[in-house]
Amino acid sequence: SIPLGLYAGLGKASKVGALIKGGNYLELLKDVDTVVFDKTGTLTKGSFDVVEINGQDDLLMYGAYGEYYSNHPLAKSIVKKYGKAIDESLISDFKEIAGKGIDVYIKQHHVILGNATFFEEKNIVVKEPSRVGTIVYIAIDEKFAGSIVVADQIKETTKQGIQSLKKVGVKNTVMLTGDHHKVAQDVASQLGIDSVYSELLPSDKVTQVEQLLSQKQGYVAFVGDGINDAPVLARADVGIAMGGVGSDAAIEAADVVLMQDNIETISDAISISYKTNRILK
Ligand code: ADP
Ligand code: MG
Repeated sequence: SIPLGLYAGLGKASKVGALIKGGNYLELLKDVDTVVFDKTGTLTKGSFDVVEINGQDDLLMYGAYGEYYSNHPLAKSIVKKYGKAIDESLISDFKEIAGKGIDVYIKQHHVILGNATFFEEKNIVVKEPSRVGTIVYIAIDEKFAGSIVVADQIKETTKQGIQSLKKVGVKNTVMLTGDHHKVAQDVASQLGIDSVYSELLPSDKVTQVEQLLSQKQGYVAFVGDGINDAPVLARADVGIAMGGVGSDAAIEAADVVLMQDNIETISDAISISYKTNRILK
């Protein structure tokens, strides 16, 4: 049976916005010394704005048609920027490759959209825009056609959330992302995150967390929001999902759900874990 003090602690945690799925996770939280974050949608808002278009006049049209069937936040921003009706009959053979991009036919043209790694694999040489942001490169009929640069914003609560973790004894903060290293470095340095791993595929994120688990002294928590994060959430000692923006799969796989999507809640939950432990002793 669960001691009464643990019930009280779980209740306090839920009042501050952390839904903890069991007393054992509440006990464990005080011994977390590494917190690993997914970038997009967790540290940042995950709602992108198109900030630059480089290429032919109809590039945005190809971008919007190419991204039409994708649920990725990048895709939604490009379709929104285009703003016009999409004629679905012009799109065929849509394929989305997680962490890389899209391969599709638009008006009988073979169109590829995605990041630098994806284009390297396809042996298509790209021209890198000067603007810092997440870059969606576009090729039409195997020829580089241009790029769309989109930018995300750090959430208002993120910086304070990282600082509060240090105050409750977290020694190591880590960011994992599929995004380009320039964007990753920019976000991490603004936030004071200790280490950054970028240009990762969803499976690479699992490998990174396993590596951290193997060097462990304290416990490792992973905080994420997306469908692709579910395997990582399950692997960490404590999986923490964003409750509002998080996908159902992420919420299901998590041990802790942050109901207000605010990472400051993590340090609050760790404090409650310390207090509960003192009461139980
Ligand atoms: P994160 O790790 O930041 O949550 P993802 O794993 O979802 O990001 O995606 C990693 C990278 O893969 C993106 O930054 C982008 O470069 C590329 N990518 C993924 N999906 C798409 C898409 N639908 N269109 C273009 N690029 C994409
Ligand atoms: Mg993500």
